[in-house]
Parts: sequence; structure tokens; C-alpha cells
Amino acid sequence: MTGQQNASISIWQVKYGERVVRKKDVFHDYGSYGLPDGPLDMDYNYWLLRAADGSVVLVDTGYDISEHDWLGEISVVPTPQSLATMGVDPIDVDMVVTSHFHYDHIGYLGLFENARVVAARAERDHWFGKWERGELEGEFTTAAHLEPVRRAEREGRLLLVDGEAEVRPGVTVHPVGGHCPGELVVRVDTGERPVILASDAAHFYEQLEHQWPFFAFTDLQEMRDGLAFLRRLAADTGSTVVPGHDARTRARFPAAPGDAGAFATVIA
Ligand SMILES: [Zn+2]
Repeated sequence: MTGQQNASISIWQVKYGERVVRKKDVFHDYGSYGLPDGPLDMDYNYWLLRAADGSVVLVDTGYDISEHDWLGEISVVPTPQSLATMGVDPIDVDMVVTSHFHYDHIGYLGLFENARVVAARAERDHWFGKWERGELEGEFTTAAHLEPVRRAEREGRLLLVDGEAEVRPGVTVHPVGGHCPGELVVRVDTGERPVILASDAAHFYEQLEHQWPFFAFTDLQEMRDGLAFLRRLAADTGSTVVPGHDARTRARFPAAPGDAGAFATVIA
């Protein structure tokens, strides 16, 4: 079930925040490459998928930078505001795929009260285990961030995946781990060239091109394997891979029409 049947899933990348980082700070063991350091523009994004039947799927949800910026992020547009500009009411969102449970990916999850929430079982077990043992201090997430996941589970809206799974027609998730134990990449059959949303399996284009690990990982070998998997999957399926935090995606794809063009990019 691919291709023509799902001929028109559109994908908009929505930028909600930004900051500037240094290459030596974000690429694991960057000094070993013998290359000069330099700045990189880092975007903070979520992704809006719209299917032909009108259903709406989000991949990740952003977070409220104005409430507390974790790493000096600068707010561009808060998720509730970008959704309103794009004509999306959170209660009408059918599904939220969470790439992983870090603060910058599930911050607004509680807004989507009717959505099925997709996560890797390994992600749920890792973070809920830490939560139960009181080990969230110093991690890139909090109990407040995890609470909407628990609520979705209680309400029977949490869909846990153990391996590759088509969670909606044309939307397939692949757990790769590495950055987090249950890191997911999302492959979307757009009807034309498929798109792989790498999220934090690959933050930047350099990681895809050179297979460079990111500095933050729970399992370095898994992260390397994940980058190799992305390359293989893209080749096997003829897909375009979109890294999760690279500002240069906005130069490779057109801006959305109208007011949303200030923050949204049309990936497909
Ligand atoms: Zn991230």
C-alpha cells in the first residue's frame, strides 16, 4: 500500500525556534576530522502532514521556549500560534508521532487531546523507567513533558511500536535508537518522491553526508547504525531525507504560501 493510493500527503516543516551552535559542540569527536570549526544555524521544527482525506498528523510538537529556554533557544513562533495560522485546531489532530521524548519534541503534546500518540516502546520504557526511579534530573526531558504521554496511555491513545510499522496509510515509522533508545524516523509516501523525516536521528546534513554522529546519544554504535540505515532506506526507496534541526532545509524547499510562509516550509 504505497504510492498512488496515498497520492497526496503534504508535509510542511514548521520552524518554532532557533539558535546558533558550533560544529565542534554538536558533532561527536569533531576534532578528529581535522576540519575548521565554525557556526551552524540550528532550527527547531515540527512537521505537519495533511492527507487527502483531511486527516492531520503531526511529527513532534515543539516546546514553549518563552516559558523556559533549555539551551538558549530563541522563540520564532509558538506551536499554538503556528497551528492557528495554518488553520489547524489541536483537537482535530488525528495522530502525533513522537520521534523521541526530549523536551524540544514533545513540549506541547498535551494540546492534542484526541490524537493517537505514536512512540517506540523502547522510548516509553526508557523514560518511564527513569521517571519511576526518580532519575530525570539532568536529562533532556521532565515529568511535565512525559505526563501527556502517560495520559495518552491511560486513555488508550498510545500506540507503541517495536519495529517498522505503517501507522497510517503512507506513514511508516522505523525505530533506530542511538540519540535516544526509541528514536524514530518517519517515512512518508507523498505520492511523488517519498520523504524521510530523520528528526534527531540526523540533526544536520553533514551527518547524512559523512555519517557523523551527533554529540548527544544513548548508544553511539546505534547512532552510527541509524545513520547507515537512513542512507540505505533513502537509496532503497528513492526518498529525500530531511534532517531534524538543519536551517539549510529552508533554502532547499519553498516557503509555504501566505502568512505561514514566515515559519513553514513545503517539503512535499
Ligand atoms: Zn531535537
